[in-house]
Order: sequence, then structure tokens, then C-alpha cells
Amino acid sequence: MDFSYSEEQQMLIKLIHDLGEREKFKDLAREIDKTCQFPFQLIKKFAELGLLGMTLSIEHGGGGQPLLNAIIAIEELAKYSPMIAAPVFESNVGPIKAIDILGSEEQKKKLIPGVCNGEYSVSVCMTEPEVGSDLTALRTNALENGDSYVLNGRKAFITGGGHATHYLVYTRFDNIKGYRGIGSLIVEKGMEGFSFGKQEVYMGLHGMPSCDLFFDNVRVPKENVVLKPGEFNRLMTTFHIERCGNAGMCLGIAGGALAEAKKYAMEREAFGRPICEFQAIQFMTVDMAMKLDAARLLVYRAATNAGGGLPSIYEASLAKAYANEMVVDVTNTAMQIFGGYGYSTEFPVERMYRDAKAWGVAGGTIQMLKIGIAGMLYGRRFDQRK
Ligand SMILES: Cc1cc2nc3c(=O)[nH]c(=O)nc-3n(C[C@H](O)[C@H](O)[C@H](O)COP(=O)(O)OP(=O)(O)OC[C@H]3O[C@@H](n4cnc5c(N)ncnc54)[C@H](O)[C@@H]3O)c2cc1C
Repeated sequence: MDFSYSEEQQMLIKLIHDLGEREKFKDLAREIDKTCQFPFQLIKKFAELGLLGMTLSIEHGGGGQPLLNAIIAIEELAKYSPMIAAPVFESNVGPIKAIDILGSEEQKKKLIPGVCNGEYSVSVCMTEPEVGSDLTALRTNALENGDSYVLNGRKAFITGGGHATHYLVYTRFDNIKGYRGIGSLIVEKGMEGFSFGKQEVYMGLHGMPSCDLFFDNVRVPKENVVLKPGEFNRLMTTFHIERCGNAGMCLGIAGGALAEAKKYAMEREAFGRPICEFQAIQFMTVDMAMKLDAARLLVYRAATNAGGGLPSIYEASLAKAYANEMVVDVTNTAMQIFGGYGYSTEFPVERMYRDAKAWGVAGGTIQMLKIGIAGMLYGRRFDQRK
């Protein structure tokens, strides 16, 4: 077991740190939150630096790097803002990674180079207005018709919705009931019958494109099918890569909040002394650092053991659930250390708290993850329908 960063990882951290300073990412983070404008201008820059598609297969134009490197990059960028980290997240641990593992040669050739140069982005589309945690009850359906499938249904809360060029849609095929009927296919922006709802307004993650998707008799060619029904478990297993990325976002946001809180505690004075000299502040800071480090160990373990492949479901679930709880706790404590200024939008910690809340729902709720973990601990599946 080696708990140190490799030389390559140290260079990656320095590259992002220098970029963040040069490009004034702290100011940019504030700007994004205020204006709700996604930083699209960063996508090309990230592509030039090799940060897009780092984990995707070399033979298709990706970087062939281990998952941990992408997690480190996401973490470093999310210290400023998860919106700044988002293109690196999507292109490394998002649905394009699932396509890299499960898709056909043609799909990879078509999509991966475009994702690596920033021209394409892919969204994952599972949730529906009436179906979230209970995913196997999804209603979107693809009916076989000649050399195509005709897709009908609606998706909700789709990150990248409207902006992404491609959509990995989880759908039922030919109305086959239960999880056995679920597979996935790629829907392209501009296909006839495919439209978008209004932009979601969230508590945090301001600027993130997100909306409902509508499929009204969308004719999807059969070559766009990524996974046919009957392989739902394989589909969900690849999603654990994204869950590690979600946990990486939490490490970054919490790391950013801890840094801000420490700086403030050394500058702010009360009773004639910097507040960092009060033991209550010290203990709060230590608790933040302790929880962040514990989460980092869980996330890095899941990513390290995944290498360039799939993480263990147990390790990825533990990492995500813990990191999701940790980031809310740490950003909340950071606000407390800032006192009244913590509640003011003039300082970044209230934004970090708002951004933190999303991750324990996105990518599967903390409760659903814990149900899965309990099943693995007890060695039996707890069917929620019975
Ligand atoms: C910021 C953000 C980004 C998102 N991005 C995407 C995306 O890109 N693509 C996508 O497909 N979806 C996305 N989602 C949707 C997200 O995956 C769902 O919101 C999530 O899976 C929960 O589903 P739900 O909202 O329908 O909640 P529900 O399933 O209705 O759950 C409501 C509550 O009940 C709890 N609950 C449900 N069943 C049980 C049970 N058996 N035992 C105990 N508790 C239970 C849940 O934990 C939750 O607390 C995003 C959501 C957010 C907030």
C-alpha cells in the first residue's frame, strides 16, 4: 500500500493549481454562481491540457490513464467550483466512460475523439419525473421497428441537458417488464422528436445546464444501442465510475471550504486575538480535516483498486455515501467559522454549502447507497418492493 502521489500525479496537481491561479478560478467561481453562466470557454483549454478523456482508451484517442488521476483532477478543480470541474468530470467518469467500456467499436470511434477535443459531450439519462431511486420502474420505452427503435418517454434532472451533443438514455425495450427489459441507447441532439424542457433552477450548482428531455417517436438507429435488455447489472456497474467522480467533487468542495476557513480563522480577530487561537475553532477545523481525509482515503481506495477498469461496488458506494455526508458537514462547519460573514454571499463558503448539498442526491441518494451497502454486508439482497 502506497499512500503517496506519484510523480505524474504531483505534476497534475501543480498544473491545475498553476492554471487556477493564472486564470483566477476563485473569481471565476464567484462569477459563475452570480451569473448562472456555465464556463464553456474552459472546455477547449482543458482539451489542450489533456484533461478531457484522460481515462478513455488510448486506441480511440483517450489518455489511457487510471481512474485515480481523473479523480485527483476533479478534486483539484472542484476546490474552486464543481462547475469548473464539470467538463473534466463528464469526459472522464461520465457516460462516455460507460460507452468506452460497453459500447461498440463504431460508437467509440465516433464519440471518443470528439469528447477528448471538447467538441462533444455526453449526458446520462436515467431519472424520470415519477422514477428516481426506483429506477427499474422506468417508463421510457424503445419499440423495435425495422432497422431502428422508436423511442417515447421523458427524462428529468438531466445534467448537460440542452448543451450535450449526445445522451446515453436508459430505456425499456419493447415494453419488457422489470429490470430485465432495461438497456441503453445513444440519442443525438437534433434527432427528430427529441426536445428539451426549461432550465432547472437549483439551490446550488448555478450555471449547470440541466433540464427534462422529451422523446416523441424518436427514431434511433439500431447501431446506437449500447446495451440490450438483460444486462442491467452491467450497465449499473459502470455507473460506479461516475459515483467515484461524484465523491471526487465532494473532496474538492470540502477541501476548498477547509482552506477558506483556515485562512479566515487566522485573519479574523475576536477578544483581541485571531479566532484560530480559540480551542472551539481549532476543534472544528480538526474535525473538518479528519473527515475530509477519511473520505479521501475511501475515494482514493475505490479509484486505485479500479485502476483503468471498474471499481468495486462496495468500495465506490462507501466512498460516495461517506463523501456526500462529509461535504455537507465540512462546508456547514466552514460557514460557522466565518460567523455572520459565512451567511453572506460576499464570501464563498455559503456557495460551497449550496453546491455540497447536490451530491448526496445526484448519482443515487445516500439512502439508496446505504441499502446497497447493507445488502453487501449481510450477504443478501433487500428487495425494497417486498
Ligand atoms: C444536481 C442533480 C443532478 C442530477 N443529474 C442527473 C443526471 O444527469 N441524470 C439523471 O438521470 N438523473 C440526475 N439527477 C437525478 C437524481 O439521480 C435523482 O434525483 C435521484 O436518483 C433520486 O431520485 P428522486 O429525485 O426521484 O427521489 P426519490 O426516488 O423519489 O426519493 C425521494 C426520497 O426517498 C428516499 N427513498 C426512496 N426509496 C427509498 C427506499 N427504498 N428506502 C429508503 N429511502 C428511500 C430517497 O433516498 C430520497 O431521500 C440529478 C439530481 C440532482 C439533484
